[in-house]
Parts: sequence; structure tokens; C-alpha cells
Amino acid sequence: VYASKKQQLAVANLVQEFTILPAKLKEIKDRFKTEMVKGLANQGETLAMVQTHILGRLSGSETGTYLTLDIGGTNLRVVLVELSQGAQVSTRQKKYAIDPLLKVGEPKLLFVLANDAVIPKGRVLELGFTFSFPVLQTGINSGTLIDWTKGYSCHGMVGKDPAEFLQQALLNRNLEVNVSVLMNDTVGTLLSHAYLHPRTVVGFGLGTGSNGAYIERVDRIRKRDTTALGNDAEASTQEMVINIEFGAFDNERTVLPITMFDNKLDRKSLNPSKQLFEKMIAGMYLGEITRNILLDMIDNRLLFRGQSSHKLNTPWEFLTEHMSVIEEDSTPDLEDVRRVLEDILGLGLVESSETPVVTTMHADATDVKAPVQTSGGESPSGGTVTTLSDRQIVKLIVALVGQRSARLAAAALCGMLEHTMGYTWARDEAEKQEGVDIGVDGSVYGFYPGYESDLKGGLEELFALEAEMSFLFTKEGDNDSLKDRVRLGRCLDGSSVGAALGAVLATRSM
Ligand code: ADP
Repeated sequence: VYASKKQQLAVANLVQEFTILPAKLKEIKDRFKTEMVKGLANQGETLAMVQTHILGRLSGSETGTYLTLDIGGTNLRVVLVELSQGAQVSTRQKKYAIDPLLKVGEPKLLFVLANDAVIPKGRVLELGFTFSFPVLQTGINSGTLIDWTKGYSCHGMVGKDPAEFLQQALLNRNLEVNVSVLMNDTVGTLLSHAYLHPRTVVGFGLGTGSNGAYIERVDRIRKRDTTALGNDAEASTQEMVINIEFGAFDNERTVLPITMFDNKLDRKSLNPSKQLFEKMIAGMYLGEITRNILLDMIDNRLLFRGQSSHKLNTPWEFLTEHMSVIEEDSTPDLEDVRRVLEDILGLGLVESSETPVVTTMHADATDVKAPVQTSGGESPSGGTVTTLSDRQIVKLIVALVGQRSARLAAAALCGMLEHTMGYTWARDEAEKQEGVDIGVDGSVYGFYPGYESDLKGGLEELFALEAEMSFLFTKEGDNDSLKDRVRLGRCLDGSSVGAALGAVLATRSM
């Protein structure tokens, strides 16, 4: 299908900017590893490497009844979790959508909502509290909020202890509930996956935000409190879960291939200059990056004949979910892409003159005849506004943004696996043969078409560049594959079952 020279050139530039070649990917992964080590020594610039104080591993035979509460994404959930023999789990839950206004209002409202749930009375329950924001943990059930992320900004909470807030709210309601563990949902992902798959050493989250947690050998945590956790000899037999808080990776911009579209997003975000890595990979942001690219193309009159729509002009209206629909579309006319652009985003709709649609016109563009814009985005021809060529370009742009995310996620995951190899997994020949399990949570990983395979492709590329990781490849026909040695598994109940398991480990170490 016809695309103009200018379009081809613009697309080629985008391809170059958004494609991360293997050598660059390795550079990012190596930097990630270095930052992990620095963060463990308290010399890190960007990776907080939070000590969760969760020690030891699960056996899979843990039992008991626990309450869990989860604040962090789109919903607030209270779940009663029953763990019984044979790693059997049953749950009862109450779920509330978090009103966007609550995310930026008085924190009290959030916590009042939390204890509105039906909580069994008459006995003291241990509660696992999943709070998925960067917290500097001071104990297994205490910590201070470093920053709000993911669009939250409740007043007066930064620097305070969210677990104490919750405990106080529960006490005020005379509820006999003890907040026994404060944890990040990624830690929950790790624990809940490990309950069923004992070789799990990493939990990975790719949803609204992005983060990773892993099992670390305590003697490698240089910043640890040696009075509590012993000298190196003692600590070499202990393990602790570390919450990396990798969303902030490379905030100082040394290695990430940040584009002007990322910069624009960052500048307009609630937390400028922060969580730059997260802003390149997480579900909250991918749609907005794509929107920024589309607007740039429109402003340069390289898409939709230079027309936009009210929705497309509105920040955050282009969702990562729309990208999934576009990626999935294999119809010859890209009918689903058309539907997203025209029916959902309103391209080509006659809009009121209060919402001007053409955003810029190029002063120096001699080959451009600026349309007289009287009634918004109405197509001059009266037909569909988007041409097949437009839709193909949009599909390509979406793929570039999606793939970049998956490959950056692969760099982080590979960094974690290389860092831990020989310490918490692959310590001997038998363990090498058994490989490693990774629990992954989040709708981006779960639903974005091709994401999982792009992530795995990135991992394979990276491991292939490191001789000492070659044991991970097994022969599969003519190809070497990571298939059976590096197992990524979807884990959906990190913030409930995982938090309950966190409460188990917390009460065990008390
Ligand atoms: P959490 O808020 O706990 O991280 P999720 O894992 O469901 O919850 O992540 C929600 C994010 O995933 C949102 O940013 C949303 O845009 C994105 N998302 C939801 N569904 C899809 C989908 N089908 N394809 C791509 N992204 C999706």
C-alpha cells in the first residue's frame, strides 16, 4: 500500500529510535546488574533494592487462615485466604474499584474504604498488606513511603508508614487484625509462585506499573544490619527477599534509549524525572507514548491527512488495551485498527468547534495544502478518515512501542537471573539441570499479544551473549531454546495468596 516518501522516512526514523539491538540490550542489562550490586551496598543511584525482612523460603506445606489487603493498582481488594495441606488455597474476597479522585485525595479515605470490608470477628487475624509503591522497609511490617507512583498522590503520606496507617484504621474500628507483613505485590508474586513451584527465585510485575523481586543471599546485602543478620559466614546460609523497585532504573539517563516521546510523557506526568524505566515499559504508559508518536506524525501531516480528534488530543486517552486490539488485528483491511481509531478515538467525527482538531500546521511545508478547518475532524472526502496506509503505519508504531517494552523487561529479568545464578539457583550441576521458575503478574504480560514471546526472545538473545549462561539452552530440533530451563509462569494471586504467605513467613520469624 502506498506510503509517501516522507512517511517512509518518518517511520524509518521511528524504527531506528525504538529498536533495541542486541548489543544495546546487553549494555542495559549489564548496567542493571551493576546497579543491583550498588543498591545492595547503599551506593545505588536508582535501584532501591529494598530489604523486605522476609527471610527463608517456603516449603509448600504452609497452612492457616490469613487476611490480606491490597492497594496499588486499579482496585482495592480484601481477601480471606485459607491455606491447607498440599498447597491447597481457597479465598473469599471483596473488591472495590479505586475512584481516581481517591488516588490523589486524603489518604484517610483510602484506608477507611479498606476496613469497610467484611472481616470475620471474634479472633485475632494476621494480615498481609500489599502496598505496591516504593517503600523503604524498616521492618517486616513497617516502612516509609518514598514516593507515590502510578498516578497516585495522596496528601501527607510520603515519609510516613502505610502499615501504621492501616493498623490505626483497623484499631479505630475495633477490628482484631494484626498487620504482620507490609509488602510489595511483586514480592507476593514471587511467594505465591514459589508456593507451587519451589524453584522460583524471581517475581516480576508488568501491569499498571512494573517491578521485580527476587531471593538474595544475605551475605551479598552489603548494606544489611550485621547485628541482626550476622557476619558474612553466618549470612551466607540465609536468604532474604529483595524488592528491587526497578521502575526507577536509570533515572539518571545513562543507558536507556529515551526518545522525545518518552520525554514528553515524563514532563506531563505526575512524577516528572522519576520512574523513567517504568514509563517505558508499564501498562499505564505504553498507550500514552504511542499517542505522543501519533500526534507528532499528525502534526507533520504524515497521518490521517493531518487531522486529529478530541480524544486523541487528550492525554492518557489512548490506552494500552487499544494497542492490544491493534496488535491482534490480522484482517486484510485492518478493520480493528480502523475501529479503534475511528469508532473509539473518534477520528473523522464531526466535532464541535470548541474542540479544535488540527493541532499544528507546518509553516515550511511547501507540499502541504493546509485544509480550512471549520468543523473539526470531518473527512474532506466524507469517507473513512484513516486510509489503509495510515492504519498500517499505526500498527507498526504500536508494535515498536510494545516490543521495546518487552525487550527492556527482558533486560531487567536477565540482569536479575545472572545476578543470582550460582547463589540462589544453579548452584550445582543438578540445579542447573532443573533450571529456574519466574512468577509473572500483570495484564501487560498476560494480555498484550506477542509480549511474552518478545520478552523470551530478548532473554534468549541476552543469554546467548554470555558463555556462562549457555547451560540454560536445550536442543529443540535444530534450535537451541530456553524452553525447559527458564520457565515464566503467570501468577495471578500475588497480592492475596502471596501476601498470606508473607504473613506466614513473618510470623515464623517473630
Ligand atoms: P495492576 O493495576 O494491579 O497492575 P493489571 O495487572 O491488570 O493491574 O494492570 C493494569 C494495566 O494493564 C493497565 O495499565 C492497563 O492499561 C493494562 N492492560 C489491561 N488490559 C490490557 C490488555 N488487554 N492489553 C494490554 N494492556 C492491558
